[in-house]
Amino acid sequence: MVGERQGHEISMLDATIDMGKKAAATLAFGTCASFGGIPAAKPNPTGAKPVTAIFEENGIKTPVVNVPGCPPHPDWMVGTIAYALTKGLPPVDEYRRPSLFFGSTIHDNCPYLKYYEEGKFARSYGEEGCRLKLGCKGPETYADCWQRQWNNKVNWCVRNAICIGCVQPNFWDEMAPLYEQTTG
Ligand code: SF4
Ligand code: SF4
Repeated sequence: MVGERQGHEISMLDATIDMGKKAAATLAFGTCASFGGIPAAKPNPTGAKPVTAIFEENGIKTPVVNVPGCPPHPDWMVGTIAYALTKGLPPVDEYRRPSLFFGSTIHDNCPYLKYYEEGKFARSYGEEGCRLKLGCKGPETYADCWQRQWNNKVNWCVRNAICIGCVQPNFWDEMAPLYEQTTG
């Protein structure tokens, strides 16, 4: 429940339908809002679904921009809002993600790509080398974390561990097991 009106509880679903109908556009922040995310993972006991699915089921034509991430980077959120307010809705990819932030893969820009090409793979954390064998999902993940980084550019997932593909539509079910090689 997210509120109450005239003695009636308002669910997130009610609010999404009600506000979605009236909005000029809807920005779905986070992988749950964008694609269902962890709550929608099998067996999805609560019937969780993305904003786009709710709109479609209720005949709502309001355009949706997805800004996924588990969590979404603050720059992606602020940047998308700023772009929308100053220039209109940003160009998006096939999953409605702003191309500005989700236009190329982690892998193609990764500082460890040279190790991947040389076939030098880390077998444990802390070992020098590409993290593919540790489960890195960078080859199928589109985001700019490699240059944006997190916490004021202090660090990012691949330097510390691996990319788990948190911005992808098939996160969680198809990315699991996270810490085993599933791509390559
Ligand atoms: S698999 Fe992961 S660690 Fe290796 S180059 Fe690609 S993104 Fe970087
Ligand atoms: S590096 Fe991968 S797992 Fe980490 S925030 Fe970026 S997309 Fe998500």
